[in-house]
Amino acid sequence: MKREGQIRVDSENLFPIIKKWLYSDKDIFVREAIANACDAIKKYQSICLMGDAEDDGSKPRIDVVLDKKKKTLTFTDNGIGMTDEEVEKYITQIAFSGAQEFIEKYKDKTDGDSGIIGHFGLGFYSAYMVSDTVEIQTLSCQKNAQPVHWVSDGSSTYEISDGSRTEKGTSVIMHISEDGKEFLDEYKLREILQKYCKFMPYEIYFSNAGAEKKDEKPLNNTTPLWLKAPKDCTAEEYEDFYRDTFADVNMPLFWIHLNVDYPFRLKGILYFPKQTNKLEVMPGEIKLFSNQVYIADNIKEVVPEFLMIFFCVFTCFYY
Ligand code: ADP
Repeated sequence: MKREGQIRVDSENLFPIIKKWLYSDKDIFVREAIANACDAIKKYQSICLMGDAEDDGSKPRIDVVLDKKKKTLTFTDNGIGMTDEEVEKYITQIAFSGAQEFIEKYKDKTDGDSGIIGHFGLGFYSAYMVSDTVEIQTLSCQKNAQPVHWVSDGSSTYEISDGSRTEKGTSVIMHISEDGKEFLDEYKLREILQKYCKFMPYEIYFSNAGAEKKDEKPLNNTTPLWLKAPKDCTAEEYEDFYRDTFADVNMPLFWIHLNVDYPFRLKGILYFPKQTNKLEVMPGEIKLFSNQVYIADNIKEVVPEFLMIFFCVFTCFYY
């Protein structure tokens, strides 16, 4: 089986637009790839619960593999996977209908705003900010599904053929471009993964194909403290979480565990740092997560003014 197709998009120049607009914040392609992998695992779990698929008992996991020699970065999940039709539908058609909307709405904007990528279903294509070619190897969890291979070099054409995956799930293989070569650096990658994925809900393992030793531990904490019920958290856990998250060696003065239901749902921990020197004003630091995915630091709009005066530090969660 092999066929070629034309990615459906009216604008011929989608990729240059993606590349140009998002130039300033290229590293979000990592967040998008991992968020898609998490979604795929979550979808698999949901359909198992609904009885539409049989749980194969595999532990959910995401692997990020750096291969410097091949200049590739691969994101693999053992989630729902995609059939041939789903690759066509979700990767080519839907993504690009979202892309058209994106172009229409923002064509007069000069500055890129990476926050809108996920919203318009362009997340997958952010891989082209750093890749010449992107491949997908996927196997749907549906009974008797056949593995599928999709590849596109970032022009508006793609190719679909028989895939090689033997277990359900998806690998997205990014062939890193000259523009993106900084992402072939292990330390840089680890830093980005920490930034965006520290609290993602499924275990993420990083490995460097060229290294002898592999990480045995996941790089993320899948059950961040703010999701636990306050009555189940100990003072030590609050203190450790504070020091780890905000890289402060001092103990916090006190903290408030938030669990708000109205007007929006928010869970978080508000920490008040110890001021060691009265003259030394420590700025607040706010980390915002959406479904355990890191969104941003220091969003002033979500913090009441009086808390800024107290130099608060907190982390919160919308869902
Ligand atoms: P969004 O995630 O915002 O819908 P994307 O461009 O990131 O937009 O992805 C488009 C679609 O492709 C997803 O909605 C999903 O159906 C499918 N997809 C992407 N990555 C994966 C994956 N790792 N496993 C299964 N499906 C995926």
